[in-house]
Amino acid sequence: MSKKVKQFIGGQAIESQTSEWLPVDNPATGEVIAEVPMATQDEVEQAVASAKKAFETWKEVPVTKRARIMLDYQALLKKHHDELAEILAEETGKTFEDAKGDVWRGIEVVEHAANAPSLMMGEFVENVANGIDSYSLIQPLGVCAGITPFNFPAMIPLWMFPMALVCGNTFVLKPSEQDPNTPMRLAELLYEAGVPRDVLQVVHGGKQQVDQLLQHPDIKAISFVGSVPVAEHIYRTGTQHLKRVQAFAGAKNHMVVMPDANKQQVINSIVGASCGAAGQRCMAISIAVLVGEANEWIDDIKDAMAQLKPGHWKDPSAAYGPLINKQAKARVEGLIAKGVEEGAELLLDGRNYQVDGFPDGNWVGPTLFKGVQPHMSIYQEEIFGPVLGLMSAESLEDAIDLINNNPYGNGTSIFTDSGAAARKFQHEIQVGQVGINIPIPVPLPFFSFTGWRKSFYGDQHAYGKQAVRFYTETKTVTERWFEDDIPDGHHGPNMTISMK
Ligand code: NAD
Repeated sequence: MSKKVKQFIGGQAIESQTSEWLPVDNPATGEVIAEVPMATQDEVEQAVASAKKAFETWKEVPVTKRARIMLDYQALLKKHHDELAEILAEETGKTFEDAKGDVWRGIEVVEHAANAPSLMMGEFVENVANGIDSYSLIQPLGVCAGITPFNFPAMIPLWMFPMALVCGNTFVLKPSEQDPNTPMRLAELLYEAGVPRDVLQVVHGGKQQVDQLLQHPDIKAISFVGSVPVAEHIYRTGTQHLKRVQAFAGAKNHMVVMPDANKQQVINSIVGASCGAAGQRCMAISIAVLVGEANEWIDDIKDAMAQLKPGHWKDPSAAYGPLINKQAKARVEGLIAKGVEEGAELLLDGRNYQVDGFPDGNWVGPTLFKGVQPHMSIYQEEIFGPVLGLMSAESLEDAIDLINNNPYGNGTSIFTDSGAAARKFQHEIQVGQVGINIPIPVPLPFFSFTGWRKSFYGDQHAYGKQAVRFYTETKTVTERWFEDDIPDGHHGPNMTISMK
């Protein structure tokens, strides 16, 4: 019998009373490795109530102490780095290197959270009027909630709760039901680092449990990462219930290849950025726009992509793993078929791919199209698979227009040797994260993760200074003290100016 995933409610690991359990599969083998509960209404209610109660004491813990707990948490995450990566690889199918990267990018956010005392500094202006000073204080909101996707089960929960907690909030996490074991282990290690256990609650579920959180009057802020339709639902419902919401959504990321770029760098980058993690990254490159003579490199791109072999995470030669589930595989294969139907030329076909020894894995081989046009489904939709579409542009202006007309704005990159072309691109492109000779420009946590347009709903983004603004309120104090009230004998030599 497979293991039943617990929930963390009121600091206790409890088994859900629900009758609804979903299987958690190993996507490389098809084997059921765990069962995840769809929390009952009561359980979600208890988690929020416990987080609300915990807030009353946690918000009074000095920020230096909260920051020190994050330092201990960082050390524990580093100690358990490979163990976490193994749990993560089992339930996502990611290669071991990629799984370690997922954990590491989360650890970097915890390091950033340990800077809370400086991040939470207010401002002070003396003498805004005669004898009057003004200053601002940064204070936590209360109970915050996070809803996370399957594709980064370590990094994305760690984008959220360390920043929220270190600012003095308490947190209810509803991780993806497809890979709940990694976030559960993250929570255990946080408790081990010394937080009061009820500051972080973990409940499992899907739409019903998320909707309960979205409507709950005691939840002040919602952080969401996932697909566009769900992000839109979260943003609409959360704001309708008067909550602060940040919702990170899907993407369609373009790489522009100028003819003066370093060809080998372009090829190496394109291959990894499109097929790495089986294309299941919100910053994956799914379209390469070849400008002018860069169109002559298509055969080389094809040859390099054809070398990629997906496989099980324990196989060190595997370039990437399987898709997360059978529906995802069927959806990607359906989009490939649609690309052919709509007239794109299929140069590499990853459908019906088999990996020796793993007949039940959700494999899709590297897939390459050329002649992709803006009206085609493979251009309009986020594919979320190891599929790269090649498009052609006559000039940098044309490439910029194409990208700015696409509704998404998560990531983009340009490969060029020209500083002028790179500067024009970074200035004019309407995308939140831009790489110059870097294919996947995910910012480190002292900046923020800044998707634009249809890739993000809200205003304050994840981590960096923006996360502190998202998880806090600013209080502005204006104060005056009357010199007449200074007790006798306490007037200093220079304190003789009367306020009258
Ligand atoms: P998803 O939208 O299916 O699920 C995300 C979360 O929402 C899960 O916890 C899920 O249980 C919950 N959920 C699903 N349906 C819901 C509904 N109808 N109502 C309320 N909650 C619901 O996304 P996914 O497949 O897990 O993740 C992949 C998607 O996430 C891709 O679109 C990817 O681009 C996006 N993503 C975006 C970013 C970013 O930073 N922009 C980062 C990672 C992933």
